[in-house]
Amino acid sequence: MVCVGAGPASLTVARDLAALGYEVIVYDGEAKAGGFIRTQIPRFRLPESVIDEEVGYIMNLGVEFRSGQRIESMRELLTQGHDAIFVGCGAPRGRDLDIPGRVEAAAHIHIGIDWLASVSFGHIHQVGRRVIVLGGGNTAMDCCRSARRMGGESVTVVVRSGFDEMKASPWEKEDAQHEGIPIRNYLVPVAFIHIEGQLCAMQFQKVRPEIDANGRRQLLPTGEPDVEIDCDEVLIAVGQENAFPWIERETGIEFDRWGLPKLDPKTHQSTVPKVFFGGDAAFGPKNIIWAVAHGHEAAVSIDKMLNGEDIQDRPLPATVMISQKMGIHEWSYGNDITNAARNKVPWAPAALTLNNIKVEVELGFDHDLAMKEAERCLNCDVQTVFTLDKCIECDACVDICPMDCISFVANGEEADLRQRLTAPALNLTQDLYVADGLKTNRAMVKDEDLCLHCGLCAERCPTGAWDMQKFLLEMTHAGPGCRSGAGLPLKVAA
Ligand SMILES: Cc1cc2nc3c(=O)[nH]c(=O)nc-3n(C[C@H](O)[C@H](O)[C@H](O)COP(=O)(O)OP(=O)(O)OC[C@H]3O[C@@H](n4cnc5c(N)ncnc54)[C@H](O)[C@@H]3O)c2cc1C
Ligand code: SF4
Ligand code: SF4
Repeated sequence: MVCVGAGPASLTVARDLAALGYEVIVYDGEAKAGGFIRTQIPRFRLPESVIDEEVGYIMNLGVEFRSGQRIESMRELLTQGHDAIFVGCGAPRGRDLDIPGRVEAAAHIHIGIDWLASVSFGHIHQVGRRVIVLGGGNTAMDCCRSARRMGGESVTVVVRSGFDEMKASPWEKEDAQHEGIPIRNYLVPVAFIHIEGQLCAMQFQKVRPEIDANGRRQLLPTGEPDVEIDCDEVLIAVGQENAFPWIERETGIEFDRWGLPKLDPKTHQSTVPKVFFGGDAAFGPKNIIWAVAHGHEAAVSIDKMLNGEDIQDRPLPATVMISQKMGIHEWSYGNDITNAARNKVPWAPAALTLNNIKVEVELGFDHDLAMKEAERCLNCDVQTVFTLDKCIECDACVDICPMDCISFVANGEEADLRQRLTAPALNLTQDLYVADGLKTNRAMVKDEDLCLHCGLCAERCPTGAWDMQKFLLEMTHAGPGCRSGAGLPLKVAA
């Protein structure tokens, strides 16, 4: 089978299927595998040695990597007799900004993701002294922090929306600010100001948020004078788009009105049965974890399809529950709840990191800090499990629960039942845990939304009707475990 692109989605498919004995060929236009992980994420966040090591584990499973080979035609690929094709080509096009001065000052204005790739490949070594980065997402944060390391003395991030609405993760914004990069909000780009193509500033309109009659938030001009910010270079990081110029529409692969492939969301199968999509190419740009998850699902589909099975029929992840009881009052996990705030990951000194784009900023936790951080764990993986026929209805668990989340009441319609609990269960998005059929005809009802997983109910229960059990989830992976065995192996083309 063939994977188009060597990003995390394709590499996951390759990993799962190569281990099962499939011949997997991975094509990528770039010289090295890794996709955006290698070309976009700056080295000060992710060192190249880590990418080499991780990618190496997969390639060493016997995957054939055809580097520097961009697939230019899906039609042609379909004629090559592959049993399955996985498209993991990402969302490679950065959005542009069509405002006055864009064309004239083009030499000083760059699309953020293209610029980051050029930095990563060493094609660019410096940037103007005064840099504006447009956009409020993680790409903008990587652009501004990279610009700071490449000679940008005054780097400013300018965002249309407010600080809290920015798409960038809070810690990415924090990192940028820590490096002395101001973030200016509620400014909408109006024009690039230049003198005969030499960029000198950008003009912005000041806006404020307002909720309209339909409850939609809109940005309205404040009426104040426009703002000018001086600059020598601008990086545009206002979003990414999918582009599939190499997939001819007559191949039968259909796309929706947003230009995304029409896929079965569960199997990742396209309208051409042997072509599957995953990662940013499937449902638009997301992140590495999603790309990997898509890759696992697509691998299950491909393996089942090539074994002649119904790809819709896939087993749920396996779950195992293990009691954490070690003695009458002793658990194998710490259940002391702490309100301690998240510990910050220590940073290398800014004087060091800002001088070299390859010096990793986050130092990671040392042993002591890691232990402190681990103590904040809320034990969400340890569940309260109730065994109905052990309960003698003594109500001791109700008395001891610090959150009032256990009630013994007459069962009824959910809306009414929620109101009759010891503490009314008002979060409708959280299902209730109900065990009906006690000897007194009452039901045990637990509001999971309030539970601290402290284990006091299970400690107090005289009969062991409550138990604290660790929940282990094993995701479904391609291979014999997810096949029903009902299908006939298809003849695989030579
Ligand atoms: C600046 C930036 C920072 C990011 N930081 C993070 C982060 O910190 N954490 C996180 O989880 N996510 C991050 N992301 C998102 C993450 O990189 C992507 O979601 C993820 O890499 C998508 O994986 P993918 O396998 O779908 O495709 P990609 O990683 O995009 O890989 C696609 C590959 O396909 C190749 N290709 C494309 N077309 C063809 C073709 N026709 N023939 C052959 N090869 C082709 C490309 O060369 C590329 O190597 C970031 C993204 C950007 C832009
Ligand atoms: S684990 Fe603690 S909070 Fe949860 S139900 Fe039991 S006693 Fe209440
Ligand atoms: S403490 Fe145990 S036996 Fe008593 S009511 Fe609660 S679950 Fe039932």
